[in-house]
Amino acid sequence: MNILIAGGAGFLGSHFCDLLIEKGHTVCCVDNLITGKKGNIQHLLNNKNFKFKKVDIVKIFSIKEKFDTVINFASIASPIYYNTYKIETLLVGSYGTYNLLELARKNKAKFLFTSTSEIYGNPVISPQKETYWGNVNPIGARSMYDESKRFSEALIMNYHKVYGIDTKIVRIFNTYGPRMNIDDGRVIPQFIYQALHNKPITVFGDGKQTRSLCFVSDLISGIYKLLMSKENLPINIGSPCELTIKKIAKIIIKLTNSKSKIVYKPLPEDDPKRRKPDITKAKQILKWQPKISLEEGLLKTIEYFKELTK
Ligand code: UDP
Repeated sequence: MNILIAGGAGFLGSHFCDLLIEKGHTVCCVDNLITGKKGNIQHLLNNKNFKFKKVDIVKIFSIKEKFDTVINFASIASPIYYNTYKIETLLVGSYGTYNLLELARKNKAKFLFTSTSEIYGNPVISPQKETYWGNVNPIGARSMYDESKRFSEALIMNYHKVYGIDTKIVRIFNTYGPRMNIDDGRVIPQFIYQALHNKPITVFGDGKQTRSLCFVSDLISGIYKLLMSKENLPINIGSPCELTIKKIAKIIIKLTNSKSKIVYKPLPEDDPKRRKPDITKAKQILKWQPKISLEEGLLKTIEYFKELTK
């Protein structure tokens, strides 16, 4: 397939580019490099099946080439970053998605969108099934991210209904691994950085809030299976292994042999209390479930950050 991937220089997008190239596809990666990095795709730049263009999908852009598939990973996904780029976050999840859907419509291409567990907000049911509508604050500290993803999902489902485009929506739960930005403030890079430097580990709130962490290679293989499937409704991809943030801090201290101690900081506004995907649908339809244990995934990620901060 000839594939356009937006956000392909980001953490997840660049891993997906790797997989697409490995599977023999031709890839045109576009990214405005607001949070993505050219370093993430440097190793692909000499590949004849890969090219990179610096494009902002929020603005009207023209690419003459024909694509069979349009994939949208473009997103400002870390709470610190989307609070720094509030309007950009809203625009990439509205104009950005719209521009790519139009490209898919004109090309009669398949379309895949990377949505988020934040669709469910601060969920009142657990685990979260795809049929749950969520509990989202439309004007709160996470609204720019949550509502832009919710708007994108609505736009995509209605493009599917009106134009018959073969659309796919993956709801991604917390994912970690190499190529995360060390300074992006998310829990895994933050705790690993602090642990490697024997600095205090900053647990927000009482640390009893939960997240379920999936290693990047597992997530990417699930998304590829979705791309190749006939499914048009949203599907959760993530790990159902739910842990408290305090427990995650302790595991990272142990795996890094760190002298760091836990310190408690105020809980950010609207920080979800729990998050755990119900992946029954992914298991049944995609025959997918995560394989990498938390310890194995964390050790790989720790190695990456050790190299990076040498
Ligand atoms: N968190 C924390 N300390 C940090 C960074 C994050 O305790 O230094 C917590 C945060 O409050 C949240 C969880 O870890 O409850 C996951 O945060 P992250 O920013 O990775 O993503 P989220 O799942 O909230 O979008």
